[in-house]
Amino acid sequence: MEEETLREKARAVIESGKLPSRTPDRTWGGPGVGALCTICDLPVRVTEMEFEIQFQRNGDNPGLDKYHVHIRCFAAWEFERHAV
Ligand SMILES: [Zn+2]
Repeated sequence: MEEETLREKARAVIESGKLPSRTPDRTWGGPGVGALCTICDLPVRVTEMEFEIQFQRNGDNPGLDKYHVHIRCFAAWEFERHAV
């Protein structure tokens, strides 16, 4: 997928609120587990590397929000969230 396309997708998930734009509370890197990437909607295959990013949620229903993203998609998201 083209870099420009990834950035457009990253911008879209930030604008829709599907993925927060703040710094994750935790970031784990490792091989994919077949989960869908939050940014490009394609699975991160076991032969690819992914980041699992986690955000602490407070308020009435505290917990941990977890998202799987490709390394390249993560980079595009990092770029976009600093650009806005
Ligand atoms: Zn992706």
